[in-house]
Formats: sequence, C-alpha cells, structure tokens
Amino acid sequence: MKIEIDNGSGFCHGVVTAIHKAEEELAKGGPLYCLGDIVHNSREVERLSEMGLITIDHEQFNQLHDAKVLLRAHGEPPSTYETARKNHIEIIDATCPVVLKLQQRIHQAYDTKAGPETQIIIFGKNGHAEVLGLVGQTQGEAIVIESLEEAKLLDMNKSIRLYSQTTKSLDEFRQIVEYIRQHISPEATFTFSDTICRQVANRIPNIRRFASSHDLIFFVSGKKSSNGKILFHECLTVNPNTHFIDSVDDINWNLLQDVQSIGICGATSTPKWLMESIQKAIMQKIQ
Ligand code: SF4
Repeated sequence: MKIEIDNGSGFCHGVVTAIHKAEEELAKGGPLYCLGDIVHNSREVERLSEMGLITIDHEQFNQLHDAKVLLRAHGEPPSTYETARKNHIEIIDATCPVVLKLQQRIHQAYDTKAGPETQIIIFGKNGHAEVLGLVGQTQGEAIVIESLEEAKLLDMNKSIRLYSQTTKSLDEFRQIVEYIRQHISPEATFTFSDTICRQVANRIPNIRRFASSHDLIFFVSGKKSSNGKILFHECLTVNPNTHFIDSVDDINWNLLQDVQSIGICGATSTPKWLMESIQKAIMQKIQ
C-alpha cells in the first residue's frame, strides 16, 4: 500500500517564523508568554508548552506587568500594543508581514476616508484573531461580512472599501467583488484590495490534485483552523473518502480496508512532524 504525505501541506512562512521566534526566545531562558495559541494546532501548542511557552488570553495579558510576550502571526489591534506600553511588557512581534501590510492598508484607508459615508468592509470570520486585529485599525468601525449573502445586506448607497482576511477563499471574494460592482449606487465609489494570502490560495489547486490521486485521504488539522476548514472542504469535493483528523487517535482503522493508496495532507497550521507520525502509525498498523 502506498502512503504519501503531501509536500505542499504544512506550516506557511508566517507560522514557521513565529515558531522560530518562540524557540529562539525560549532558548534564552526566562518566562515567555504567547497571546493566544501560537498556531491553531493543539499538538504543536503542547510541544511548545513543554519547552516553556505559556499561552495566555487577552484578560490575562491585561493583568500582566514587566513580562515578555510573543504576538503570533495573526497580528493584534493597536490596543494590545498600548497595553504593553503601559504595563512595561516587552513584545516579541511575530505578526506575519502579509498581515502587517494588510493592517497598514486598512489603517490608511480609515485615516483617509471621507467621513461616515465610506464603509470599510472586511470579508472574514467574526471574532477571528486576525479579523479583530484588522477591525482594530478602524477604531472598531469596520464591518465584517462572512459571506456573499451578508454582502447583499450592505448599504449600496455608501462608498465601499473592501478588504479580506488573508485566509479566505479567493473565489468567494471575487463573487463578492462582482456583486458589489453590479449593485453599488452610481453616486458611491467602490474599491477593493485582494489581500488573500497566496500561501493559502495557491495550495487549493495543489491539494485538490493530491486528494484526487489517492483512494483515502486523512486531512490533519486543528479544529480551530479556518484555513484547515477551507482546505478540508476542497479535498472532500474531489475525494469523498476524505477524513478530518486532529491526531492518530482519530483514525478509524476500518477505513483502511480495500484501499491501495492513502494520502496525508493538512493546513498551513499543521506541523510536518504530526503528518509524519500519522504515516508511521499507519505503516505499523498494516505490517
Ligand atoms: S497564511 Fe499567509 S498571511 Fe497567514 S500567517 Fe501564513 S503566510 Fe502569513
């Protein structure tokens, strides 16, 4: 039986850099806190926690003083930097450069917009860390839409500046752009920035190819990963025998009957070592 790991799956640059920064800081000694899970993968969070990384939430962060805190690739709103300054917190900033650039664009659009008649719209998931960081660039004024259906509810008599969370689907973003273009009032203006990360978008054709070339697919991802949900759905579309697993413990071994080839793939937040450990476990099982 053939058991293959998808070469194109695994951490994106932003996550690799954040994890390297954490490991570098941990090697220096002393406590290191991380604001939120460093990556949406509980196995990797556990590995780093064993090395000493302490994950905290925003409430705990607000109580912290004179400490060192790593900001993950998703980025943070300006209020987090303000709290750090007040509480003498040293920030190790691992915000992904792609997210940072998007934050700056939105900030600039907010600073230069022509009053309340212009709406800043973010296509993203409400409450997602990256989206909170983006909305924070507009003093909380940006409107978040999660789908084309929600785009249809926007006020088309006001001008629109449209942005997207970096991990959203490019296809859906294009549909939203098209809808607004067709429905915006002639008195209003519409501009959009395609701010979807190609580290994610480019994985879709690759993972579809990979998933369709195997009898059975194990898609490995943390349940909280947005990108994981998108890529899993892509695999499922081309191969209905695709199964979402968080670790080897989730494998239904009965699925291995009557298959000749198994593919293992995952999200931008899935560690390579986890996919390798799953491959090893399957090989031991079938021997
Ligand atoms: S998916 Fe793209 S934007 Fe998000 S952390 Fe990775 S490289 Fe950065």
